[in-house]
Amino acid sequence: MTGNKIKQLRHALTEADAVIIGAGAGLSTSAGFTYTGERFHKYFFDFEEKYGFHDMYSGGFYPYDTLEEHWAYWSRYIYINRYMNAPKNTYENILEMIKDKDYFVLTTNVDHCFQKAGFDHKRLFYTQGDYGLFQCSEACRKETFDNKEIIQEMLRDQGFDIRSDGTLEFPDQGNIKMTISPSLLPVCPHCGKMFTMNLRSDDTFVEDHGWNKAAMRYDLFLQRHKGLKTVFLELGVGYNTPVIIKYPFWQMTVQNLQAVYVCINAGNAGCPKEIEHQSICIDEDIDSVFYKINQVQK
Ligand SMILES: [Zn+2]
Repeated sequence: MTGNKIKQLRHALTEADAVIIGAGAGLSTSAGFTYTGERFHKYFFDFEEKYGFHDMYSGGFYPYDTLEEHWAYWSRYIYINRYMNAPKNTYENILEMIKDKDYFVLTTNVDHCFQKAGFDHKRLFYTQGDYGLFQCSEACRKETFDNKEIIQEMLRDQGFDIRSDGTLEFPDQGNIKMTISPSLLPVCPHCGKMFTMNLRSDDTFVEDHGWNKAAMRYDLFLQRHKGLKTVFLELGVGYNTPVIIKYPFWQMTVQNLQAVYVCINAGNAGCPKEIEHQSICIDEDIDSVFYKINQVQK
C-alpha cells in the first residue's frame, strides 16, 4: 500500500513543473528534533533537577527569578535547536528529491533546518520567525538582529566549549553555570529594552525587511505557476495553524486540475473529498518516506 503511494509520489514529483513545500512541526520532529527525553536531559539536566520540568517547552515558559537564569536557559535552547544540525538527514533527502525543480518552501518552523540542509534561502519563507534573530521586546523598530555570536558567548560564559563542528562540549562536572553574566543580557540598541526572539507569539512580532521580501517572493512564485503542474507537498503540518499552509494548499489544489496535493503525516494524513482524486496522503513517518523514495530512485 505505502510502496504504491511512494511510487505515485515519485511520479508526481518527476512530472511537476513546480514543487511547493509546506512544512510544520512534524517535519522537524521526524528529523530528530525532539524536545523531551534524552535530548532534553543532555542539555538541561541541571534545570530539570532544580525545577522538575521534563521538556524544553515547559522550561521555556518557566518564570525564572532572574533574567540571567532566563537567558542561560534560552541560550542553550536557541543554540541546540537553531544552530546545531538536525540529528537525521531528512531535510537533505528531501532536497535531493526536488533540487532540480523550481521549488519554494513555506514553513511555520523557526529552527532554520531548510537553510542548514542547503535549500536556497531565496526560496524560503519562514512565516513565524526565526530563533536565530532577536528583536526589541517592545518592537520599537521593524528591525531584527542576528544572534549567533551573543548566544555562543552566553554558552561559553556558562562553561560550555563550542567544537569546530558546532557541537557542544560540557565542562568538567560541577563547573556548569545556570546563569549568564549581567553584561551579556541582550538589550535593544535603540531603546534599551530587553531583546526577545523574533517569533510570532503576539502582536509585537517584527516583520522585518527580510520577512517582507520572502513573503513577496512566495506570492510571485504562486502567480508564476498558476494553472501549471504543481505539487503541493505538505509535510508534518497539524491543525494548530491550518490557515497558513493546509487550507491554502487545499484551496489551490481545487482551483488547479493539474495540481497534486501530497500530505505526509504519521497519524494525521488526510484531505477533503473534493480533492481526493488529486491527492496522495501518506500516513507514515516523513523521514522514512524520503529515505525510501531516494532508494527507489537509485
Ligand atoms: Zn527597542
